[in-house]
Amino acid sequence: PFCLLQVFLEHAQRTPDRLALLFGAERYTYGELARRVTAFAQALLRRQLKPGDRVALFLENSPEFVIAYLGVQYAHGIVVLVNTAYRQVELDHILTDSGARVCITGASGAAELAPLLPGLPTLEWLISVEPPAVALPSSLRVEAFDALASEPATPERHMSVPGDINIAVLGYTSGTTGRSKGAMLRQSHLLSNIRAVTEAWRWTDEDRLLLALPLFHTHGLMVGLHGTLYTGASVDLRRRFVASEVLETLRDDPSITMFFGVPTMYGRLLEESRRTGLRPRPLRLMVSGSAPLSPQLFQDIEATFGQRILERYGMTETIMNTTNPYEGERRPGTVGMPFPGQEARIVDVRTRQPLPDGELGEIEVRGPHVFSGYWQREEATREAFDPDGWWFRTGDLGLRDPDGYFHITGRARELIITGGFNVYPREVEEVLATYPGVAEVAVLGMPDPDFGEQVVAVVVPAAGQPAPEAQALVDWCKDRLASFKKPRRVELVDALPRNALGKVQKHILRERLSAPD
Ligand code: ATP
Ligand code: MG
Repeated sequence: PFCLLQVFLEHAQRTPDRLALLFGAERYTYGELARRVTAFAQALLRRQLKPGDRVALFLENSPEFVIAYLGVQYAHGIVVLVNTAYRQVELDHILTDSGARVCITGASGAAELAPLLPGLPTLEWLISVEPPAVALPSSLRVEAFDALASEPATPERHMSVPGDINIAVLGYTSGTTGRSKGAMLRQSHLLSNIRAVTEAWRWTDEDRLLLALPLFHTHGLMVGLHGTLYTGASVDLRRRFVASEVLETLRDDPSITMFFGVPTMYGRLLEESRRTGLRPRPLRLMVSGSAPLSPQLFQDIEATFGQRILERYGMTETIMNTTNPYEGERRPGTVGMPFPGQEARIVDVRTRQPLPDGELGEIEVRGPHVFSGYWQREEATREAFDPDGWWFRTGDLGLRDPDGYFHITGRARELIITGGFNVYPREVEEVLATYPGVAEVAVLGMPDPDFGEQVVAVVVPAAGQPAPEAQALVDWCKDRLASFKKPRRVELVDALPRNALGKVQKHILRERLSAPD
């Protein structure tokens, strides 16, 4: 096959009556889903969507998302994924950067979009899954999604699936370290990666995944949905994650065999389970990723749910990189080894030379899953690759232990260099987190006239306990770490800024810390 879409269409042809997608009370078989996808794709083509036109999906999890996602690809368009939490500033950035011609969204999305339209000359067409509740300029073509997806598909019309080198998706990175960039993912990247993932995790058409991760992001879309469609399995899709609902389903529905989540979700499931006494049935597989899963949470889940979570490591640019073994030892605090057919190594941050096991450096990856560059950002693309060997510089720091397991220890860009010494924020965060009364902590480097950078700790005090004293926190570090690693400044805040995936956004903290009071 050339692309995942083709694999999906073949399933629909061979087993049209098999269930593909459950969403609340809605049920879609492979046959029905393929009919809608084909109808939607033909409707786009009839209205002159051109190959390579960018189509932004600013949509919550729903069957419409799935149909739009596949339909745009079938019409040879490029899907632009937009985080539904984004508001005008981020939306403007992505729509401008991608030069999107079409946006598929709902009523609240249209409202968010409306004031931006005069500044978005390329955006001509809005396809709305709900009637828009705002006035839109008459120059904008507005159509209802349902009408397009239910136009009769003409079987005689010749339709070709995209080729393997066609760009399928512009995946915008989460913007954890700065402005989000559009990663160009070709059909071949999608297909080769999901082949590796489904093989490694023994995913079959007997599986049913409970999926409450957002589809606008790699984890939900390129692992959860792609794996389902590739194997001919089924997915129970939720609009959003609600711990009580997920836990109930995991307890009551024996057809669910897998659950994928980010660490925050596992934390909430555990809390909910402790509160209610509900326990999930044993699943075939629970997967965590997108952010580090603490060994403590791993152990608590094992103790309470009897489940050893499989942690894996991925990113927008490469989809999935490494995984703990399905059959072998799942080692807490590690992200396992490269998926079949892919490579990973650790290099020295300065010399870019490969390092021996156990030494800390930057993780680089190589293989058929690695994207072809950032959309219209030659400079950023050049910086991201090692020109000799086509290794992609992930920007993540880590090491490989002697057994071949990779550990992630932070972000290269967040490494603090103070007075010539390297300070890894993660190490200081872990020490501060053990201080009584600290709920959460983020450590970052701020400019310092003498030392280049200084270590700053931002601390969220635990509810219902006396707030920790700044000096006591500094002393706590001094007793446990080299003195140059202790924070020079401690700020107490109510909460850390996190993005939709629960990742701490240090660049926002940095802006706040540098703003004059
Ligand atoms: P940006 O690139 O815009 O700064 P981002 O890197 O957070 O944002 P994503 O591509 O969504 O955007 O996230 C990928 C990153 O998530 C990885 O580079 C890594 O830092 C982190 N990550 C993913 N899985 C894990 C994991 N299991 N453990 C630790 N970190 C992880
Ligand atoms: Mg990144």
